Amino acid sequence: MRYYSTRHHSNSPHQALHFDDVVLKGLADDGGLYLPETWPHFSEAKWQSLAPLPYHQLAAEVIKPFIGNVFSDDELAALTQKSYRDFRHQAIAPLKQLDNQLFVMELFHGPTLAFKDFALQFLGNLFDAILEKRNQTINIIGATSGDTGSAAICAVAGKHNQRIFMLHPKGKVSKVQEAQMTSMLNDNVYNIAIDGSFDDCQNIVKSLFADHDFRDGLNLCAVNSINWARIMAQIVYYAYGSLRLGLRDIAVSVPSGNFGNIFAAWAAKQMGLPIQKLIIGSNCNDILARTVQSGIMQTSPVIPSVAPSMDIQISSNFERLLYELLGRDGAMLETLMHQFKQTGRLDLPDNAKKSLQTLFCAHAMSDDEIRADINKTYQQTGEIIDPHSMIGVTAAKLYGGDLPVMAIATAHPAKFPNTITQAINIEPTLPDYLSDLMQRPTRCHDVMNDADSVKQFITQNQ
Ligand SMILES: *Cc1c(COP(=O)(O)O)cnc(C)c1O
Repeated sequence: MRYYSTRHHSNSPHQALHFDDVVLKGLADDGGLYLPETWPHFSEAKWQSLAPLPYHQLAAEVIKPFIGNVFSDDELAALTQKSYRDFRHQAIAPLKQLDNQLFVMELFHGPTLAFKDFALQFLGNLFDAILEKRNQTINIIGATSGDTGSAAICAVAGKHNQRIFMLHPKGKVSKVQEAQMTSMLNDNVYNIAIDGSFDDCQNIVKSLFADHDFRDGLNLCAVNSINWARIMAQIVYYAYGSLRLGLRDIAVSVPSGNFGNIFAAWAAKQMGLPIQKLIIGSNCNDILARTVQSGIMQTSPVIPSVAPSMDIQISSNFERLLYELLGRDGAMLETLMHQFKQTGRLDLPDNAKKSLQTLFCAHAMSDDEIRADINKTYQQTGEIIDPHSMIGVTAAKLYGGDLPVMAIATAHPAKFPNTITQAINIEPTLPDYLSDLMQRPTRCHDVMNDADSVKQFITQNQ
């Protein structure tokens, strides 16, 4: 299997890459995102034959066609086994029925209690295996407003061929998330607190990657959700859920930010799973909902919400879907993305808009609506649903129609205790294995809010 950038076209100089290079590279040099040259497709009989497999074995089968000959079957099996062994539920991704046609897929039983563990646990082990073969080391650099940072640090801690430098805005991530990151005391983990905003952190990271001498000299690597391997690993749970529901026609409802999770659902459909409708959930940062309704993608300022992991106005992975909606026309995509960057507005061509609206629908919720529905769901079912997952569950009820819906629960409620307490006046408790989290010793480095200071810190810690 070979990979192309979404901005690839006949007279662009960039070549097709193999899986391992795509994983280490993250973003293509032309600014595009990597996608496989074709989508693997399994017949219904083939899917049926995979139904009895436990999660990690299913993962190896789903991932196999994407990786070419980078790993043997045995190596891949070992990778997926290692990646899901620290999950605290036997099913890894259990489905819970809330109502006649409503199933919640709980993706928060991983080590940091958010669905990002599914992709990042795998990515950490994948980096490890690729670097081992190449006898290389990398420096992972990232910025986080919470969930990505804790999941990435947990995935990389203790790995001898990787160092991770994670920037967060000092005092501006939740207490639980901060403790999850700073209590990892391994030598290869560097938490960097920046006296500024999440955007300041992200801009510093961008400028480090833009300095190509620095980037290449230190083998910098990114773990944000544009990395193809993260999307690939997320296809697996849609397959797992679809098999549990007996390969019936279903809809899927996904609380969305950077559009990585729901794009994986779209990819699962390309692989032959009977997913008939894709429902996007948004908070008050509703750019995706507006795009689906109007065919016009237009940014507005980011507003902080009670579902902070979705406080995003530029959903990077939407570029992947757009490329597909344009019939894989990389030249046209490049023109449109360039316009979007210049003006903050992108008008979908008519046929792309039609295809988008045929498959996708979207629902946006205010903070008040989210809190009210957390309360209502608790009264009706006894389930405490985190604010992100709540958006997916509500959207599922509104837009599922006659189809059974699988609503994706992306985080454990105890990660967002303030909002849950406001909604139901009960403080959600952390699972037993994390009950001492707030008492654990921590380590964190304060670094000045500028790229040069961060560069210096990273160089000194090689
Ligand atoms: C990251 C995150 C999301 C958004 O997922 P995307 O793949 O960026 O769309 C939703 N909920 C939670 C809890 C998250 O951590």
